[in-house]
Amino acid sequence: MAPTSTPTLRTSLAPAPALVLALATAALLGCVNPSAHVGPAALQASSTRCAELASQPLPVTLPGATSTVRSSDLVAAGDSLPEHCAVRAQINRRVGTDGQPYAIELIQRMPTSTWNGRFFMGGGGGTNGVLVDPVQRLKEGYATLGTDGGHDNKINNLPQAGGTAAFGVDHEARVDFGYRSYDLVTQAGKAMVSRFYQRAPQKSYFMGCSEGGREALLMSQRFPEHYDGIVAGAPVLHLPLGPLSGIYTTQLFAGLAQRSSQQLANGDPAIGMTYSDKDLMLMRLAVLNACDTQDGLADGIIDNQAACTAERVAPALAALQCGGAKTEQCLSADQLGTMKKAFQGSFDSRGTQLYSDWQWDAGISGFDGKTFNPSWRSWWLGSHSRERNNAIKLTFATAEAVIYTTPPRLPISAADVLPYSLSYSFDSEPIKLFTTTDRYPESTASMTFTDSPDLARFQSRGGKLMVYHGASDSSISVNDTLRWYTHMSRRMGRTTPEFARMYVVPGMAHCGGGPATDSFDMLPQLVAWVEKGVAPDAVTAKASNPGYFGVSQRTRPLCPYPQQARYKGAGDINLAENFTCSDVR
Ligand code: CA
Repeated sequence: MAPTSTPTLRTSLAPAPALVLALATAALLGCVNPSAHVGPAALQASSTRCAELASQPLPVTLPGATSTVRSSDLVAAGDSLPEHCAVRAQINRRVGTDGQPYAIELIQRMPTSTWNGRFFMGGGGGTNGVLVDPVQRLKEGYATLGTDGGHDNKINNLPQAGGTAAFGVDHEARVDFGYRSYDLVTQAGKAMVSRFYQRAPQKSYFMGCSEGGREALLMSQRFPEHYDGIVAGAPVLHLPLGPLSGIYTTQLFAGLAQRSSQQLANGDPAIGMTYSDKDLMLMRLAVLNACDTQDGLADGIIDNQAACTAERVAPALAALQCGGAKTEQCLSADQLGTMKKAFQGSFDSRGTQLYSDWQWDAGISGFDGKTFNPSWRSWWLGSHSRERNNAIKLTFATAEAVIYTTPPRLPISAADVLPYSLSYSFDSEPIKLFTTTDRYPESTASMTFTDSPDLARFQSRGGKLMVYHGASDSSISVNDTLRWYTHMSRRMGRTTPEFARMYVVPGMAHCGGGPATDSFDMLPQLVAWVEKGVAPDAVTAKASNPGYFGVSQRTRPLCPYPQQARYKGAGDINLAENFTCSDVR
């Protein structure tokens, strides 16, 4: 970064010795920021400039709406955060067609003396409605931004309209959640950076996982002008198909529960009872038996995912089938058949595929010596409990009914999700994700899909994209993301690895968890790629719970697809340095 200075920060006071040292250190690091020119007068200037942001003009795009800065305060250093200017603002505050108040809330934090010259936005999660506030990046020196996506789960929460899915009744709130809010808050945030620091950010970064990963891809496809570097984790490429695939597995597992007489006290099928933790552990071991050594090393990690096909695991799964009554050492034919069907993906009655298949991988279970891995089953099955159904996919059915289906299917309360899911027709309902009406003039598929293979505008501005996805993600299929990545790579051609790379994390569940090296931060390497042209050939990751491998620590390289991690043949198998990224498939 080039040294810069800002006239408003100049002071006649000589810099204090500590400041000289700080400036020298910053210069050595190649990064001098304007706010480092601080003395008492400049500190006051920071405070003044922060307060002045209260009159910052903000975009207003909807008739009858208003946009205002609600507060702009200089926050003293403390609680591990540096001194910074914190701005809260609302864009497009208005009353929706459902009579509810709506606004796109944002929070921006700009460090005064520790700014690294960069802008960072963090992505959301679920169906948003919670203000994202990526303070970890503030600690690292970034000016940070987050939003709630245009609705507030504390306000826009109506039990008869799917609880926090209620915003789906209002078309403009759908649009804000789908794509508009992230664009508007980025515009507002960058304008505030320019006003506060008297210069634009040198580089801008976006990072998120799940819905936040979708927002990340959205930025590379729909708004490629905003961000220089993007990390998209487990991106929900086909957002409305996430709950759809959940309704599909709910029907499958509810059917299994009914056939095996697993019921809650109220007579509902006990979905979580269909597989015990030990049942899933048997399936994990079968998958490992079939696939672990396909990468040359029996280590509890399936690096050769491409080889771990349904055909390869079928005999190992078949070997689990009980000869007689069900015991802890075997699975029923119905359990095996139902799970295999679930892994094949979602289909209508004519056999047309509606959502991707799922990757057979070792993260379906795991045992760390004390507890079984809860991550994988939490989405499809929920707890092994006769008390309640708590699969996350079941909960998300309200989003399908209210946010993604046009027109919304109302009323629907938490008590209705099971009957709604069990009566859902895969022949007549999915088309409603692509439907428009006068009141809903844009379909949810059109506003939320982020599967465009055309990243030409992002590539030509010098943008860099890193994508990651857990192979044992039971929320969103890694295979769906790989299909998009392959499609995009074909479209963008041979130069794709020069601006976009994807990393599959074996064993990892949705955004983290599972028997995997699931702890890593791609932002530092992304910054080096964007600013120094150093491409990220491997990302070192460590297991957040190495107990799943029966060891005290494990690190591994995550490799850019289609490369895979391979043991070099010597040294500790728990150290990344003894592995290399290989082109073998
Ligand atoms: Ca292996």
